[in-house]
Amino acid sequence: MEKVLGLKCRECERRYPKEPLHVCEFCFGPLEVDYNYEVIQKSISRRSIEQGPESLWRYAALLPIDEEPTAGLHSGFTPLIHAKNLGDALGVPALYIKDDSVCYPTLSFKDRVVAIALSKAKEFDFDTVSCASTGNLANSVAAHAAIANLNCYIFIPADLELGKVVASLVYAPTVVGIMGTYDEVNRLCSEIAGVYPWAFVNINIRPFYAEGSKTLCFELIEQLGWEAPAHIVAPAAGGSLVTKIGKALKEFHLLGLIDKPNTKIHVAQAKGCGPIVDTLKADSDFVKPVKPDTIAKSLAIGNPADGIYAADTVRNSGGAGEHATDEDIIDAIKLLAATEGIFTETAGGVTLAVTKKLIESGHISRDERVVVAITGNGLKTVEALENQTEAPHIIAPQLNAFRKLMATVA
Ligand SMILES: *Cc1c(COP(=O)(O)O)cnc(C)c1O
Ligand SMILES: [Zn+2]
Repeated sequence: MEKVLGLKCRECERRYPKEPLHVCEFCFGPLEVDYNYEVIQKSISRRSIEQGPESLWRYAALLPIDEEPTAGLHSGFTPLIHAKNLGDALGVPALYIKDDSVCYPTLSFKDRVVAIALSKAKEFDFDTVSCASTGNLANSVAAHAAIANLNCYIFIPADLELGKVVASLVYAPTVVGIMGTYDEVNRLCSEIAGVYPWAFVNINIRPFYAEGSKTLCFELIEQLGWEAPAHIVAPAAGGSLVTKIGKALKEFHLLGLIDKPNTKIHVAQAKGCGPIVDTLKADSDFVKPVKPDTIAKSLAIGNPADGIYAADTVRNSGGAGEHATDEDIIDAIKLLAATEGIFTETAGGVTLAVTKKLIESGHISRDERVVVAITGNGLKTVEALENQTEAPHIIAPQLNAFRKLMATVA
């Protein structure tokens, strides 16, 4: 028996073969990978995982790849840091940072999902990969396509940060900037995917791609000594990461790798684009699309594909959602840098700002273990900090000039 049975509709449970499909023909629900956990159970243990590679592929038994992986061989297995200085500042001694700002090779959590998507695309024999992206996914697909010798087409909103655009262009894919929001880019890509026989990682390969997000949660549990924390705070764009954190906790428990988890999953979004948090605050069953207006461009998805599943994951775990304003985001980026020496992008600012609010509001108790998912690197969004830090002190190349400066700054 194989560990992956095929695909299954998340709504009506209709089954589909293992193919590049993503929507149910009958109810338009999203398709999800259907595992045979009895088969997986026989091949997985804490020990087998610990003896695996130092990458996300140590969890290969729970990933939808049938052959040896061919992309993202060094992705994942990022540091989990006990953030003592930050914990002091926030009054939470057991505060941890899961630091995907240093994920290999493109410095964001997207290297996890792309490792799976491109390995799968090669299994399916595609020669061209593509994506609709808010920036980080573009960087990761372009880099991994270069490594894997695949043709690559990248679609992004035309107004992305320069760092994110250059960090796609450098790998020499075809980059198309669309004059519109991410949601418009995504809609166009769905039409293109109907015409061109390409592997769109977050459209026709999405059920496989999304499974990669689980590895962030698998890792932090293993890094805590096979114990799930009391709280995980994660950002949401399309809502896939948050949803898959819930799935990862369930799978580890189902396979007997951890005790029954009692983890509250909290979701972080920007005030200027927070449809999932809006849904939670209104205690609604629908996600109402919004038009994004935030400096957190990597999270600026106004109509999130997995929005309702993310909201349900948070609700069912007993977690909460909170918004961060642009000002909160910048303050949190600076706080993380000043306390832990980690320079995160705007999405990380959103997540830390929200963590702070949830501590202050009592949704996170100060005496419990908290893991904050920092998902991207600040060097890609430097413009967010323009005029938001001290300027350098410019002096002449003379000792005297430096002495004079010291007299004013010391
Ligand atoms: C894509 C992304 C996320 C989360 O994305 P989902 O679509 O919700 O899975 C979080 N942080 C960063 C930096 C991202 O690029
Ligand atoms: Zn269905």
